[in-house]
Amino acid sequence: MAKINFCTQCAHRVDFLIPADDSRPRAICPNCKHIQYSNPKLVVGCLLTHQGKILLCQRDIEPRINYWTLPAGYMENRESTLEGALREAKEEACAVGENMRLFAIYDLPRISHVYMLYVGDLAQGEAKAGDETKAIALLEESEIPWSEMAFSVMTEALQRYFEDRKNGELNIHRATFEGQPGEEATIIRDWPQ
Ligand SMILES: [Zn+2]
Repeated sequence: MAKINFCTQCAHRVDFLIPADDSRPRAICPNCKHIQYSNPKLVVGCLLTHQGKILLCQRDIEPRINYWTLPAGYMENRESTLEGALREAKEEACAVGENMRLFAIYDLPRISHVYMLYVGDLAQGEAKAGDETKAIALLEESEIPWSEMAFSVMTEALQRYFEDRKNGELNIHRATFEGQPGEEATIIRDWPQ
């Protein structure tokens, strides 16, 4: 996460100190005493299917430009996680999701991100590339470009989805992705067991 340098209230340079009754260093303004907290970001996204095919987006922005992913992005203020996931599908793939249900919660503590992914139907099977997307594709399992996936979180979600589908039952999955950014993640799956 980007380091905080300046106070959001008065623009003075901040110090990193542990406040009384706290246990972690915080960005504290020596001028106006404002404490600026930094907390994890929530990424929300969708796994949308049509006639058994999966909607994937080829990224047209960094990081991981040209690599493939599920539509997802940072949650906005004043929306629910599902609203955010549906908004991302609309923005990135001009896609409408229907019959949505929670599919996965993934923790990435090393980069302070939490992913919440929903699964559902792609309405009318219609999608096209949005502003941040180079191309979209509706792909069978055998057509998924596994070596060209942008993020290990999405690879994990897709693998669990295909596994569930073979077993005839969609679960809600939970895992923690350990390891440094840029390294291959160690995935600790804790639910379902
Ligand atoms: Zn200040």
